[in-house]
Amino acid sequence: MTAHSHRATASYIPWEKDSVLGVVPGRRWSEGPAYKGGVTRPRVRWSQAPRGARFPKAGSSGTKFTSFCLLALRLEWRPCTMRVFSSLSLPPVHPVWKGPASVPGGTRQSPINIRWRDSVYDPQLQPLGVSYNAEACLYVWNTGYLFQVEFDDSTEGSGISGGPLENHYRLKQFHFHWGAVNEWGSEHTVDDRVYPAELHLVHWNAVKYQNYTDAVTGADGLAVVGVFLKLGARHEELQELVAVLPDIKHKDARAALGPFQPSCLLPACQDYWTYPGSLTTPPLSESVTWIIHKKPIEVAQDQLAAFRSLLFSVPGEEEKMMVNNYRPLQPLMNRKVRSSFQATHEGARL
Ligand SMILES: [Zn+2]
Repeated sequence: MTAHSHRATASYIPWEKDSVLGVVPGRRWSEGPAYKGGVTRPRVRWSQAPRGARFPKAGSSGTKFTSFCLLALRLEWRPCTMRVFSSLSLPPVHPVWKGPASVPGGTRQSPINIRWRDSVYDPQLQPLGVSYNAEACLYVWNTGYLFQVEFDDSTEGSGISGGPLENHYRLKQFHFHWGAVNEWGSEHTVDDRVYPAELHLVHWNAVKYQNYTDAVTGADGLAVVGVFLKLGARHEELQELVAVLPDIKHKDARAALGPFQPSCLLPACQDYWTYPGSLTTPPLSESVTWIIHKKPIEVAQDQLAAFRSLLFSVPGEEEKMMVNNYRPLQPLMNRKVRSSFQATHEGARL
């Protein structure tokens, strides 16, 4: 790549190489077959140089790009993407990842790629018991990294039990992770398939711990239910939430919401995978029992577009689009993924 051509392939994305954070599009480009199944590996080029940016001279392969304060990536392979996201602005490293980005000696980090064939059917795994109180919904807010819906967790009224869980876990909040485009965005993947977005419902073990903060770092402290979002029919219940997103466009903004019934965001099929993992944002605590639904829910293009209309930035700051707020895949290491269902050949059709 030269300064004159302003062209780059995915492997030149500056902070991808130097950072374990991967808060960038294309985190899986270097991980082999992530885009198998008909998705073409996108070509990316610099569409414009941010003010003050320095391009490396040809041959200076060791030049670090970390001096970039802003990058505009132009995604070339589909016109509709161009209309919506002609100029994606991302910081080199999102502030949420300015702290420790890995756990020294960590052995059970998330997210992971779930391999259908390697997961082990466990007939002891019962369907997850879900009982959420819509009235416990408090508000939705822009955390500066994603948007999150908070719940009153002062009573046992709203939560999950059963399935792989020994105790009842109270619902604390739910949030989403998503991509700049439909070709990526989920944190977990299934047989290398990436979904455009992923919902996380975060619960804590109120039997073992006094409060959420204690549970975050404690053994069996958290249980997170993950649901993939795929492009399809409009999700009417989600629309209730999407409708308030314009009110929380900037970082730290919040808006009242509720009552809202989060179980409407779960797929009808109760099949799931479960594995021991971690939070996917700092402090990355290895306290999470993950419960990942096999079936995705469907959302419409304009609903995903509403997610992407949010900003990482505060008012008055240069606008930074809230996209690609996921952590890259982590090694499975010495873990088994269990399934509540028997594997069939249907994996490829999900
Ligand atoms: Zn999450």
